[in-house]
Amino acid sequence: MNLWQAHPEELISAMQKAGVRRACLTTDPKTFELKASHPVLEPLRASVAADKRDYHRHEGCFFELGRESGHLLSACVHLTRRGQAAGGVRFFTYDTVEGFVRDGLRLSRGMGHKNALAGLWWGGGKGVIARRPNVDHRDPALRRALYQDYGRFVSSLRGCYVTAEDAGTTADDMAQVFATTRYTSCIPKVLGGSGNPSELTARGVVVAMEAALDEMGLGTLEGKRIALQGLGHVSFFMIRELLERRVGRIIGADIDEHAVRKVAQTYEGAPLEVKVVQRGDDGILATEAEVLSPNAVGAILNARTIPGIKAKLVCGGANNQLEEPGEDDRRLQERGILYVPDFLANRMGIVNCANEQYGYIDNDPAILAHLDRNNSTGVYRRTQDVLHRAKSTGTTTAVEAVRLADELGQELHPIFGHRGRQIIDHLLETDWASDKGAGL
Ligand code: NAD
Repeated sequence: MNLWQAHPEELISAMQKAGVRRACLTTDPKTFELKASHPVLEPLRASVAADKRDYHRHEGCFFELGRESGHLLSACVHLTRRGQAAGGVRFFTYDTVEGFVRDGLRLSRGMGHKNALAGLWWGGGKGVIARRPNVDHRDPALRRALYQDYGRFVSSLRGCYVTAEDAGTTADDMAQVFATTRYTSCIPKVLGGSGNPSELTARGVVVAMEAALDEMGLGTLEGKRIALQGLGHVSFFMIRELLERRVGRIIGADIDEHAVRKVAQTYEGAPLEVKVVQRGDDGILATEAEVLSPNAVGAILNARTIPGIKAKLVCGGANNQLEEPGEDDRRLQERGILYVPDFLANRMGIVNCANEQYGYIDNDPAILAHLDRNNSTGVYRRTQDVLHRAKSTGTTTAVEAVRLADELGQELHPIFGHRGRQIIDHLLETDWASDKGAGL
């Protein structure tokens, strides 16, 4: 059986059979050779090492079988030169080990890009937990066990990875994580966290739109028509921001009638048209508008949808909007549509929680500085930097954003240097994967 293509349950069984509760893949910093802690991971090691798309000499991928929950937990660390690897933990169903591992590899690098472009002193990391089949994932006892397991796992990594909330994980889950590790952000406000980031995310995306329109010579948002896919938290606040800027019309669609009703009632009388659509109905993307803002789900910019887009600018909060990076950004460029990469526009979500251990201030100047047009690392100027670069090189904005992020990702943390790497080396020296130190 090829474990790479097998169901994650097969990896759990293989680890149990081999008497392995913890295992890791790490890249040797000198030879760049990828090493497996145990023979049971060899099929994963060989597949990851041969991969050209998602593996980029990641410093380490760590796996553990949850002590209480039995779930397969992971943390992927791409690069820690700018600081500890930071990124949320996703709780999701995977059909294959490949899908599970690839998500960690791809998303940890993506988080590093987002953190670097935002000027944050954090590296790139991501947590992934594979949902087990035939288990009620809403059961509070299971969730408590699972997320406390996850916190213990993160503690064992001694701070090379700092976790946070992500898809499938809730604020209550983060409180459980916080019960067993200090290496987390995005905890509830009552525990000293930063609360819901959606309003700031919306404000950041609107600033990115303004930067792009200005760069395109299309003036301000005033009078423009904006199409919104999804009317959830981000769009709710975005509508307020857009109305304050006297946009001409907002057209929005959501599959959830409650979300549509809430927006319609809150903004009654505004130049706003919102409707409920069926899942899979992406008609909103082809709306006659100057700006299209995807604020629902990922992978909506693809070979099927791009030919219908009428907007000249795509700028939204949804993560991973390009279905096939490298192809779909090229398709948009060929159609003369300017795409602001999602990880450039939606940084405020992570900005809001990234530094919450430094204390919390209402209208925090350290956070609001990201929205300041004169700040060289703020959303406005960083967006324009990327658009400038793309214009002068002729490549796509997505390629240029990654290039700039990779450059910035090489900068060393001004105080702690490449400490994440030192922590990983220490984990290897002290035989982390042997589980001897799993005392928590
Ligand atoms: P949300 O869940 O509150 O809202 C998303 C909305 O999209 C929901 O109302 C849902 O019904 C709707 N939706 C789902 N599929 C749809 C479809 N096919 N067509 C139309 N509507 C659809 O989420 P949110 O917090 O508003 O975040 C929106 C997006 O932005 C997500 O992709 C999220 O990962 C990303 N994001 C959010 C933040 C944040 O601060 N909230 C930060 C960074 C990125």
